[in-house]
Amino acid sequence: MSIRDNVLSLLKEIPENVTVVAAAKTRTPQEILEAIDAGIKVIGENYVQEAEKAFSEVGKRAKWHFIGHLQKNKVKKAVQIFDLIETVDSVDLAIEIDKRCAMIDKVMPVLCEVNIAKEKTKSGVYPEEVEQLIKNISNLTHIKVMGLMTMGPRFGDPENARVYFRKTKQIFENIKKMNIPNVEMKYLSMGMSNSYRVALEEGANIVRIGTRIFGERNYKKDK
Ligand SMILES: *Cc1c(COP(=O)(O)O)cnc(C)c1O
Repeated sequence: MSIRDNVLSLLKEIPENVTVVAAAKTRTPQEILEAIDAGIKVIGENYVQEAEKAFSEVGKRAKWHFIGHLQKNKVKKAVQIFDLIETVDSVDLAIEIDKRCAMIDKVMPVLCEVNIAKEKTKSGVYPEEVEQLIKNISNLTHIKVMGLMTMGPRFGDPENARVYFRKTKQIFENIKKMNIPNVEMKYLSMGMSNSYRVALEEGANIVRIGTRIFGERNYKKDK
């Protein structure tokens, strides 16, 4: 199957109100352009350096979401490239994004990353910390919180992830009800190639899809 065929068959399955983020780590600009030509509108990148290279060739033909772990020393570059940062998980990181965005007169939409299963190896805040993080960030004038993102545990059987997607959706709805000023709970990013169908059933409106679009990754280059 070509990237084009993968995108066309994927998009047929996805409701119109849902955004597909093509998770492009390790992929070449040519592969990314092939996905865009087939109808992909948003590219997800995990590494700022890789994104810079891709952005220099693909540019504004797509929107760019940052979906990796963002280090503070990469924020200056990141705010120039990305249209949305999905992985804010500390006030410190938010303050840095706010500061760098103020310098270029930009307001950055962000999602807060939730470590919904409290996995030691994963980034994101624990479920009980999400509300406080969002309240703290909401005062910043060059950041706008627009929802939540979660990786969720990876299981062979995506049905096992359902309970975690459901919990994330509950947190999302609870925070939405609070009507926190400068916070607009609009996006819920969850689900990957193996789990997006379950995630959609549990209320995701952003799914992040890599292998289902681009094929298996070269393991050595993957992190
Ligand atoms: C790689 C990646 C994905 C996509 O994973 P696939 O299993 O290839 O679909 C989604 N989200 C994040 C944060 C990723 O790093």
